[in-house]
Amino acid sequence: MSYDVVIVGGGPAGLSAALALGRARKRVLLCDSGTRRNAAAERIHNFVTRDGTPPDEFRAIGRQQLATYPRVEVRDLRIESIVGTRGAFQVTSATGTVGALRVLLCTGMIDEPLAIEGFRELWGRSIFQCPYCHGWEVQDRRWGYLARGVQSLHFPLQLRGWTRDVVVLTNGSFDVPEDMRARFSAAGIEVETRPVARLAAREDRLQSIELADGATIACEVLFAHPPQRQVDLVRKLGVALDDDGYVQVDPVSRETSVPGIYAGGDLLSRMQAAVVAAASGVHAAGMLNHELTVELATGG
Ligand SMILES: Cc1cc2nc3c(=O)[nH]c(=O)nc-3n(C[C@H](O)[C@H](O)[C@H](O)COP(=O)(O)OP(=O)(O)OC[C@H]3O[C@@H](n4cnc5c(N)ncnc54)[C@H](O)[C@@H]3O)c2cc1C
Repeated sequence: MSYDVVIVGGGPAGLSAALALGRARKRVLLCDSGTRRNAAAERIHNFVTRDGTPPDEFRAIGRQQLATYPRVEVRDLRIESIVGTRGAFQVTSATGTVGALRVLLCTGMIDEPLAIEGFRELWGRSIFQCPYCHGWEVQDRRWGYLARGVQSLHFPLQLRGWTRDVVVLTNGSFDVPEDMRARFSAAGIEVETRPVARLAAREDRLQSIELADGATIACEVLFAHPPQRQVDLVRKLGVALDDDGYVQVDPVSRETSVPGIYAGGDLLSRMQAAVVAAASGVHAAGMLNHELTVELATGG
């Protein structure tokens, strides 16, 4: 079997790309292995027309709308390898190998949970990465921000837009420069530099943060940006990554360093939100389709 485009990843980026390519009458295979980034989240917010939609429902609607386009196939499959060159890729899963003229990577990112007791369990429930996504529902409560270095200290200042009660935690890992302390003080933000021992919860919701010296800080909501990594497939492909580990693409064409392989969505940058990923998927699909259509129409 051979396709014009194989899309790897069926989140907001891959679904949107498949919609654009289906409407452009390309023969598309969309493969998704099921482990999505927002698996722990109860609802998607800040996506116009879909605000408050559970993530599974979001994906189901996406697939339902793709069913209108007979040249788009959707399969629940993990892609194990991609070999070949532009115009002649072989894409392999557990069920076999298919051919593709182009490949579009929409594989998202993997969040690596921080090694703090309670972090993994509370991620997506009381621990969030983005206040636009989850801040409204918990506004005016006591929020913490788990900072991982001086470079992340600009972030907690914006949290004041949702609550007056913010504490920045350094987890004992770095010193807060005096100028930042002064800005936090002016904004009424507390700074806690002692190491964190564990996150205490009741009924799956954060109640307090226990420090290594036995002290306890009341806190209902924590924001954090744990490290991220690319999925194994992307690492094996050898596409160029930037210094932060995100896939480098041409800013206009969205082609990676491997000719014929394009990328869209979270895997491109830390600017991560479902609607941003959807737009990124459409951008890559549009540019890929333009290039492929011209090639097929002109024979070269
Ligand atoms: C806890 C949490 C809550 C969030 N809440 C919100 C929110 O409320 N609003 C918002 O706008 N954003 C939210 N986000 C961010 C949002 O989820 C992401 O920006 C968005 O999902 C990125 O879309 P994507 O398509 O790039 O990647 P993903 O949604 O992560 O999809 C990537 C897909 O690729 C698949 N895949 C990976 N490797 C392979 C392979 N080898 N073969 C086949 N398939 C593969 C995965 O299974 C996955 O389904 C949240 C994120 C987190 C972590």
